[in-house]
Amino acid sequence: MDPHAHATTPPAHDDVFAFAEEEAAPSAAHGQEATGGPLLRVLSVDDDPAFQDSLRYSLAGYRYRDQRIELLTAASANQAAGLLAAERDIAVVLLDVVMESDDAGLRLVKSIRELIGNAEIRIILLTGQPGVAPMQASLAGLDINDYWLKTDLSRERLHGIVTSALRAWEQISALNRARRGLQMIVEASNSLTSSRTLHDFSGRVVKELARLLHLAPEGVVCVQDMPGSDPLSAVIVGAAGRYSHLVADRLAVLDDARIRGMLGHALSAKTSFADTESQVLYFPGNGDGPHGATYVATRRELDDTELELLRVFASNINSGLINVSLVSQLDRMAYEDALLGIPNGNAMLRALDSVLALPPPRDRALLFVDLDQYSESCLSLGIEQGELLLAKIAHRLKRCFPPPALVARLHDDTFAILGPASALGIEHIDRLESEDPDAPDVAPFISIGAARIDLDDYDGPAKAAMATGSLLLKQTRRQGLSQVTQYVRGMETPHNQRFTLSRELHRALRGDEIGIALQPQYDLADGRIVGAEALARWTRPDGSQIPPAAFIPMAEANGLIAPLGARIVELGCRALARLAAAGFPNLPIAVNVSALQLARNSLLDELSSLLARYRLDPAMLELEVTESIAMDDRYATGDMLNRLRDAGFPIAIDDFGTGYSSLAYLRTLPAHTLKIDRSFVQEIGSTPERQTIADMIIGLGRRLDMRVIAEGVENTDQANWLKLRGCHHAQGFLFARPEPLDALIARLAGNAETPLQ
Ligand code: C2E
Ligand code: CA
Ligand code: CA
Repeated sequence: MDPHAHATTPPAHDDVFAFAEEEAAPSAAHGQEATGGPLLRVLSVDDDPAFQDSLRYSLAGYRYRDQRIELLTAASANQAAGLLAAERDIAVVLLDVVMESDDAGLRLVKSIRELIGNAEIRIILLTGQPGVAPMQASLAGLDINDYWLKTDLSRERLHGIVTSALRAWEQISALNRARRGLQMIVEASNSLTSSRTLHDFSGRVVKELARLLHLAPEGVVCVQDMPGSDPLSAVIVGAAGRYSHLVADRLAVLDDARIRGMLGHALSAKTSFADTESQVLYFPGNGDGPHGATYVATRRELDDTELELLRVFASNINSGLINVSLVSQLDRMAYEDALLGIPNGNAMLRALDSVLALPPPRDRALLFVDLDQYSESCLSLGIEQGELLLAKIAHRLKRCFPPPALVARLHDDTFAILGPASALGIEHIDRLESEDPDAPDVAPFISIGAARIDLDDYDGPAKAAMATGSLLLKQTRRQGLSQVTQYVRGMETPHNQRFTLSRELHRALRGDEIGIALQPQYDLADGRIVGAEALARWTRPDGSQIPPAAFIPMAEANGLIAPLGARIVELGCRALARLAAAGFPNLPIAVNVSALQLARNSLLDELSSLLARYRLDPAMLELEVTESIAMDDRYATGDMLNRLRDAGFPIAIDDFGTGYSSLAYLRTLPAHTLKIDRSFVQEIGSTPERQTIADMIIGLGRRLDMRVIAEGVENTDQANWLKLRGCHHAQGFLFARPEPLDALIARLAGNAETPLQ
């Protein structure tokens, strides 16, 4: 292989890293002469001055790729060893075998390879006497490349020998540098995948590029949201060195016309290129999202190895860019109210979490406001007017509670506000009632219900604070007149009714009131049943059913979820055994696993012994864990999930898309399956933005090589859309409701037609 092949021919235009054709013939091929880099060095070791002279004479006119070489000489093996230990960049040594002693030459070779540890230098042995040729074995063992009788060395032959040795040395050292570089790329990519924001990501890009190329970090990364628009509108998202003050500015304000021009050119021509001082890389993103370019000051031309490394690194940067923009899009969707463009309940929860993480005094309050206006106006004016009104209400709330207060919409016309306690007093709520001078057309609020929690009086988790707030709001409403219900420490202690129910569940677990229903999962491509999810069912002795939505959260709250979960797993195993007996041994069953179960160290042992008892393979029992639990390291689930995965259990992330995943984190999760949450499936065909979430999850699954299953599929439009987008599997009422095991077996046996066929 000619290591320079890709320097003289433009590299193939792969979409990730393409060099512009016209710039594609860097002078690296003739490189070092043009750039004044070091000459290739050849060392001749011989104790015969006459031979040294003739060698020098023969090599005087020698050129390697149009380039002179530097010839060094040593008169003894000892002298040569000293020289070689100090100078690591000598490419070739021409070595006389017999010098101080008969084997001085071979001993020198041994110490070059083994003591000095130079594996790259090429060694050519020369001897004056025929018959002292070393054994072939020792030639190979010491990586000696050639063996010649001095008398056979014509000038042409010498040139040929030196040329092939130099070429071999170039290849080997390029490979070694590439290997070291690749190691660095692996490290750099690890660093890139851990960044969650574009800003952090691009800062790292410049830093890692500089590290890879041994440069002082100086560069700019810019990203353009809308490819095709004016490239100067691209935003500088990361910069190091001279340009670091430009972060967040538009490319247009960069005052260095050359750099500005280069970045602009990269974005509009969608190409990477280089000049003698700098390297501009172009990242196409995933084609329809943002794309970007980065400028790095190199101050010299890069050699082939460096270009090769850049090509590899650029594709890493590109997938990083796709991931980061996916994450931030997911982030935006997960934390923003789609209708009003203000923070949503998730965002409030996140902010609340960080406040509650601090010890009191926090001097913060949480306010819940229920305006009761939206539903009324929707009724009287229609949805569109109602939504318009909602936007105005949000505007007024933000005016009444300016930053640092955070205003979020929870649902309908219920809002939550988190802010300094003094800015969230009762008098501020009163102010909401008066007419808004800025918007005289918005009627004053008819009736406001509010609840207020002083966060210095509160020490539960954020989720519970939100639940308490809603509860207090309901109380406000029930009481009718009173406008604000103030939280008093301890008022959220369990209701009597809850207590009774939990005692009942306790009893139910001892009896046989808890069962499972199985909901089949279908392959969208061919309509086959590929598995089933086991869902808990509670049937009271009188035949009445209590829905899981009522008893599961309660069981999670009072710890009964552990024995309940164990029961469900056992029932799942029994169902697997019966399925096998009925002739369906390869149909896995999925069970839902709660945080509390995962937090127990004994989970793996319990599962394993159950499976052993029923002689089942762990691969048959899929464990569904909701996204928010999987992502929550407070439960130390990461480790347990890893152990379960290693034990052979398939892991599915349930309700995917509703949690807080960052892609970087997701990638580290030991999961096999993403389960698209029902809410995203429901919105297929109605809300285009939401549709993107289902689509994004499918894309994510593809990128991470995970199975994607959609849940809650209720109509053929949804199923067809999902199939078209490449979603693998689906479950939902369209195909089948959760049903008793017997019904599932009958369905399998009858090979029931599915709506897709
Ligand atoms: P999930 O894990 O998301 O389960 C899917 C739920 O969606 C089930 O409700 C199922 O009956 C329902 N479903 C299935 N297809 C459709 C559809 O096409 N449309 C609609 N609207 N719904 C559909 P279910 O059985 O009421 O369970 C509710 C939740 O209770 C489950 O949500 C899960 O979080 C929890 N749960 C159920 N069984 C267990 C269990 O054994 N252990 C634990 N930890 N949680 C469980
Ligand atoms: Ca589930
Ligand atoms: Ca689910």
